[in-house]
Amino acid sequence: MTELLYQTDSYLQSFDATVTSVVEESRGCVLNRTAFYPAGGGQPADNGTLTSEGGTYPVLRAKKVGDQVLHTISGDVPLPSVGTKVRGQINWERRYQLMRTHTAMHILCGVIFRDYGASVTGGDMDPLQGRMDFEFETLQRELVDEIQTAINKEVIAARPLRVKILPRVEAFRIPDLIRTKINLLPEGIQQVRVVEIVGLDLQADGGTHVANTSEVGFIRVVDYKSKGKINKRIYVEVEDKV
Ligand SMILES: [Zn+2]
Repeated sequence: MTELLYQTDSYLQSFDATVTSVVEESRGCVLNRTAFYPAGGGQPADNGTLTSEGGTYPVLRAKKVGDQVLHTISGDVPLPSVGTKVRGQINWERRYQLMRTHTAMHILCGVIFRDYGASVTGGDMDPLQGRMDFEFETLQRELVDEIQTAINKEVIAARPLRVKILPRVEAFRIPDLIRTKINLLPEGIQQVRVVEIVGLDLQADGGTHVANTSEVGFIRVVDYKSKGKINKRIYVEVEDKV
């Protein structure tokens, strides 16, 4: 299995690892440990490089396969062999933008639940932009400015984020987690990673986040769409200045 270094340190940009298996057909390289985020929860996978004495291998993306992370190597150079020691380097500029964006999405969820009681049903993001779906019947044009002001207040409030890995039974006792549909977690998962924006939001989440909401920047609500009477989609962009 691959040790998921990003789960406990989202600021880790480079790391040492060993190649544990190679999948020639898909040009995949499995490592014993990785800081590459393998996509999930709406956050896309990282790219970057692996470097060994034999050369540098561009990593197109990482992907979770069972309890292993497969790093897809682009180009046609021969893949490193099993046992090779490599240094992994993630594309930090892109990843840090994704961390800011992912935290912005959780701020949006937290504020919309707190102020309007609306639950999130899904979401997706790219660097510095994202969309989230809510069961939010009362959303209308007039609320957009109000929401934008409220979420940026939480950026300025500089709330710290805390990440914990809890035993399943313990996580299931946290009332805030029940509303984010934690009960849909597969039976086999015995540990639940929990991401908390202190005083605002708490979710079961596998993604990478900034340490403080002040790192996010300005969150602009650019649009919203009705996906039926109840379901609404909100689009946001993250900008550098607050
Ligand atoms: Zn998330």
